[in-house]
Amino acid sequence: MSNEAEQDWKDIIHRCFRCGYCKFTYDYNDFNCPSYKKYRFETYSTGGRLWLIYGIINGDLQWSENLANVLYACPTCGNCMENCRFDKFNFLLVDMIEAARAEAVKKGFCPEKQKALLARTKNPDMYNPYGEPNSDNEDLKKEYNLPDKAEWVYYIGCTSNYRQKNLRDATIRFLKKANIDFTLIDEHCCCSPIMRTGQISPVQDFMNYNIAQIINAGASKVITSCAGCYRTLKKDWLKFGAEYDFEVYHTIELVNKLLDEEKIKIKSEYNKTITYHDPCHLGRHMGVYDIPRDVIKRIPGVNFVEMERNRENAWCCGAGGGVKIGYPEWAVEISGERLEEAKETGATILSSVCPFCRTNLSDANDKYNMGFEVLDLIEILDQLEIEAME
Ligand code: SF4
Ligand code: SF4
Repeated sequence: MSNEAEQDWKDIIHRCFRCGYCKFTYDYNDFNCPSYKKYRFETYSTGGRLWLIYGIINGDLQWSENLANVLYACPTCGNCMENCRFDKFNFLLVDMIEAARAEAVKKGFCPEKQKALLARTKNPDMYNPYGEPNSDNEDLKKEYNLPDKAEWVYYIGCTSNYRQKNLRDATIRFLKKANIDFTLIDEHCCCSPIMRTGQISPVQDFMNYNIAQIINAGASKVITSCAGCYRTLKKDWLKFGAEYDFEVYHTIELVNKLLDEEKIKIKSEYNKTITYHDPCHLGRHMGVYDIPRDVIKRIPGVNFVEMERNRENAWCCGAGGGVKIGYPEWAVEISGERLEEAKETGATILSSVCPFCRTNLSDANDKYNMGFEVLDLIEILDQLEIEAME
């Protein structure tokens, strides 16, 4: 941190009076912070983490592996931001944790497992955190007969392109059915995983590369499948100085827009009971709550049921903020609690709109034998007859 930035953090952090609201929701009489619920030690709540960060800035505490591990044991779900009553800084809480992680990286205390995200992303044969050979998406463009230039770019994102291909293909089929003029680019990681874990050194280069690819494709609009990509393109890139004039949509926003404008019609029924999990990086981080619900309610035949904790209070899936790679068993444990809650609704379908949530919820569904169909909403739409209107 620069001296100036340090002073800003000092000015903010001392205002936390460690009241503890950030870890408990009285409406549900339960802990809302997955980290505190797991470790049950004040240090693992946001109030405790801020106290640690303040100690580091003041020089009262020195960096250590243990201290860094406390900072990294948080899926950056943002539930603390909703519950902290101090509105002069509650919106900055996750930013402060991420800034402290960036400082941990600088001092050489990034945990080993999270370091792999950066190494793979920077590898010129990969450019993704999964360590897969980079796909330039040319084969997909040929397979689906997509042009080189178009009004829209579908920015697939690493999780959909390398781990949730069904979600990617369902999205492409939907865009084709809806007559959207779109193409794909040779995308590199949006940098969400490395930003969330404080490994920010290559972000600007990756961001500039991706922006140039989108501009070269002649696009004025970009669609993302992933809540993490959505937040990164729409919010984080701007913080890193991006200048672009294309619009960024999550796929579900485009679906809703097409339904509103009566450009598509859902012609078949889906006679199932569905509940919906709010991805943290779409909900709490970006305020998108109604749109996915509006789409679900417009699918003929659906019985939509809410989980007890929903929207701003939704329990995290547990995968974000580097927790899936750093603490894989705990990540699935957090999703397990979400599945228990989903079970109480009587739903057979657990839906979401994020490939990363889908991955972690599916892992827990398998581990705990919960018997759900875990699906992205675009995969449900893919099963239905969609008619594009003239
Ligand atoms: S972060 Fe907010 S809610 Fe948490 S202890 Fe500090 S002031 Fe209280
Ligand atoms: S972001 Fe989530 S897990 Fe992290 S401290 Fe806040 S509530 Fe707890």
